[in-house]
Amino acid sequence: MDCFPVSNLAGPKEVDLTLVKPPTGFPPVKFTNYSFQSMIGETLGIASIASTSRSRGFTVHYLDAYFEELSIEQTISVIVGRSPRIVGILLRYPYVSIVRQITDSVRAHLPHAKIIIGGQYPSINAKLVLEWLPSVDGICIGDGELAILDLLEGAGRQIHGRSYILWRYGPSAEKRTAKGTALVHYAALDDLEWPDRKYLRTAQEFGYKAVGISSSRGCPYRCAFCVPHVYSQNSIERPWNYRSARSITDEIQFHYDNGDRLFTFSDEHFLPNKFARKRAVEFARLLKAQRLDVKFMFDCRADSVSEELFATLRDVGLYRVYIGFEAAENSMLLDYRKDQKMEIYESTLTLLSRLGIEAIPGMIIFSPTTTPSEIKKNIEFFAANFSTYAEEDFLSRLQVLPGTPIAVGLKNQGLLGDMIEGEYFWKFKHPIVEALWNDFNDIVKSRSGDFRALRENDKQSLSNLKKEIERDLFNALNKRAQ
Ligand code: SF4
Repeated sequence: MDCFPVSNLAGPKEVDLTLVKPPTGFPPVKFTNYSFQSMIGETLGIASIASTSRSRGFTVHYLDAYFEELSIEQTISVIVGRSPRIVGILLRYPYVSIVRQITDSVRAHLPHAKIIIGGQYPSINAKLVLEWLPSVDGICIGDGELAILDLLEGAGRQIHGRSYILWRYGPSAEKRTAKGTALVHYAALDDLEWPDRKYLRTAQEFGYKAVGISSSRGCPYRCAFCVPHVYSQNSIERPWNYRSARSITDEIQFHYDNGDRLFTFSDEHFLPNKFARKRAVEFARLLKAQRLDVKFMFDCRADSVSEELFATLRDVGLYRVYIGFEAAENSMLLDYRKDQKMEIYESTLTLLSRLGIEAIPGMIIFSPTTTPSEIKKNIEFFAANFSTYAEEDFLSRLQVLPGTPIAVGLKNQGLLGDMIEGEYFWKFKHPIVEALWNDFNDIVKSRSGDFRALRENDKQSLSNLKKEIERDLFNALNKRAQ
């Protein structure tokens, strides 16, 4: 194992808790162009567990190995160097092997440490993750702040009669994974500490300009491919858990006083119900009352855009919304269980355009069952309605993850292959779509250099580049149709 210079890191050598965002195996990419300025670079979930645990007097080492540009070996060395009694590691697909390497090695060096895996994805696939990661003691179910505090305060045992961890060994295992009996308490989000901002400035240097704010967790909708939906409906008592407008504004005021003006909400859906819309009005009132001259964006569904509310939010800084349109064909929306029809997309986009709010589309252009005509419709929709893009927009492909309803449906149709790094491998049903997928990759990747060279505010060049790529994609579609 490489010996990383642990003594160079700030903080005490031995800690109660180490929280880790693992490396990805690639160095972080520095973004400069317009598309990425609203992206969040920090991992707010871990950052919130770090600050909440620290506020109770525990020593915490929070390590973002990605931003620290650490190798897997260096990450292990840093974790081991702090001798934590609890190690919490975020697991995201497709990084299962990396997390396995880390957990196996940490287990060998720290045989008495509790190794816990967290994140929404492991939360809905807890038993599977325990199989994949033999050195792990347990999987966090529900809000990580509560689970970790229970562990810290109980000196390694669970206390308060509550269980938020699915343990590898223990009587709670079956109970916690049976759907319908696994619901756990939710955290009172206003009472949690604001996230530790150790990596905020680093993230901004890498081009993630916005300060991420988490104002809610979960989503009450039921899109078939969506992990947060399964997580919030099957794991916690309240499918949409939220902070008050007062609490959100106070946190924004804090960052404003530190010179930040650009904010992005990390919520799955900022406006999922009537209460959320009322909260948004109150949030706008507070921003105005406190004269916070900010710009902000959030994610929502197409059917939550309304004139009065969005005009109010625009007046206090809403400049951009991310909307998961997913597809421009109702047949695909039905497969994805979006519970909305594409006919509303036009009025949503017209309204946003009239208000001067930029719409960033979430699209899934390719799925195992997509037809060439559906792909064409998707590209036409994208070309007609959006002036900027991110490279992955043209290459967006359904991610089929265990635990989601769409995985069950596709498996029943015989369309799923093996699971690789926590994600199902799948093939296209129509060979011509496979050929188009390859064409699209060639076209988009041949312009990667141009895309990355664009400057932060050069929206016009980005728009021109998008048009050129779309022209080539339409040519490919026409050629394959002959
Ligand atoms: S609306 Fe968004 S967050 Fe909610 S279930 Fe659908 S995809 Fe998931």
